[in-house]
Amino acid sequence: MAAHVLVFPFPAQGHLNSMLKLAELLSLSGLQITFLTTEYHHSRLCLHSQTHARLSQRPGFWFRSISDGLPDQKLRSAARLLELYESLTYNSSSLFRDFLISNQRQETQQYSEDGWSRITCMVVDGIMPFAMDVATDLGVPTIAFRTSSPCSIWSYFCLPSLVQAGEFPFPEEGDLDERIHAVPGMESFLRRRDLPSFFRKARDMNDPGLRFVYEVTASTTRAKAFILNTFEAMDGTVLSHIRTVCPTTYAIGPLHTMLRRSVSSLLSNTTSSNSANLREEDRSCLTWLDKQPKGSVVYVSFGSFAVMTDEDLMEFWHGLVNSGQRFLWVIRPDLVNGVEEEGSQSLSVPPEVAEATRERGCLVAWAPQEEVLAHPSLGCFLTHSGWNSTLESVVAGVPMICWPFFVDQQITSRFVSQVWKIGLDMKDMNGREVVERMVREAMEGERAQELKKSATAMAEKARESVEEGGSSYMDLQSLVHYLKSTAS
Ligand code: UDP
Repeated sequence: MAAHVLVFPFPAQGHLNSMLKLAELLSLSGLQITFLTTEYHHSRLCLHSQTHARLSQRPGFWFRSISDGLPDQKLRSAARLLELYESLTYNSSSLFRDFLISNQRQETQQYSEDGWSRITCMVVDGIMPFAMDVATDLGVPTIAFRTSSPCSIWSYFCLPSLVQAGEFPFPEEGDLDERIHAVPGMESFLRRRDLPSFFRKARDMNDPGLRFVYEVTASTTRAKAFILNTFEAMDGTVLSHIRTVCPTTYAIGPLHTMLRRSVSSLLSNTTSSNSANLREEDRSCLTWLDKQPKGSVVYVSFGSFAVMTDEDLMEFWHGLVNSGQRFLWVIRPDLVNGVEEEGSQSLSVPPEVAEATRERGCLVAWAPQEEVLAHPSLGCFLTHSGWNSTLESVVAGVPMICWPFFVDQQITSRFVSQVWKIGLDMKDMNGREVVERMVREAMEGERAQELKKSATAMAEKARESVEEGGSSYMDLQSLVHYLKSTAS
């Protein structure tokens, strides 16, 4: 029997992007793969992802889907994230059980019509413990994959220590600049405001958001092993702490670079990026970038979930225009709070801002981000500090300006500015003056040069980690070895 790995991500853009890349890497290493997602997201992948089209043709790689329990016509926009999560947990759990039971019957039947065989192991998104419980119940060994930053995961593990040290909950009206000492390895730079967003809102351990992240994080210790999308040279200290609770932790990242290295020949003439896109990419921005001078463009994107008020959006817009820099900005149709219907957003922009945008700006609804970041015209990335975006910027050697929105982004942005020193942290600051000042700092003068130098050095380390013999390369080999052993 061949080893056959079920890869089951949470259905959201960042999760699908990184887990589909892992799935392809495992497939290239000779494993059979089933990539399980929800029917809604699978239909979006069929529409917008070239990677999906390519992998659907590959022998030994199957896409399967189950319902997420929400009505078909309902949008799964940023505003409905919690609803999607709850529906998946409560409604899809039994569907997943049925799916796995029907697969496990393949043992007697050996192979179904399209060659689909018995699953021998599962790599599950660590934020879905229900799937881990079902698989464990049915005797399928499970590995947890977390798509968030390792520094955030370690802070979640430390929640009991924070409570014991009296550092959590924060006092009401307390100073958010107060130092946190109970997260080992981060004593010298971590402040209350840098802890993931759940900590700031919670008044005690019964807070639903905090309980959720803690329970989800603790559940990973039940898995056979743990996978993180990072590399030793960037996250070695945090990884060594995580390994005190999850001894078999594989650091396999940056996944998109590992994959690009492995499939460069397949991708060399492609006209589409190697992403699990749920939206249509607007590739016209690459043509626009081609016409801009080297290192001159600020790329602005807040990922797939972050939302803001239209006042905030206008402050960003004024700040960008006032900085005098060129900019490429991803304005998703649901970027502004409360807008759910795709294409229903209308922005009223002052004439002088509109004029400046025509002169030196480019706006798109969704960009081929990996290609944008790799473009020579890029100067810096104004980002919400999502973990995939951060890694993509690291690999491209592009300095960041961080405007963290929620979850792990608050702590990731602190690491970007204070630990890796490859960007500036705009956390909790608002207004056009701040945006203008930070954009100038990241694009012009001595500070900009320092940031670029550190970002270039980190990009080099990322590259080394995925080369033959590099730390991520070696961890991938160990993971593949383990997965193959589940077939015997
Ligand atoms: N992304 C993209 N085009 C865009 C904006 C984002 O392809 O216009 C991709 C980006 O490359 C990244 C993912 O969407 O892989 C966003 O994931 P991240 O973890 O950065 O943030 P999230 O969306 O989960 O908040």
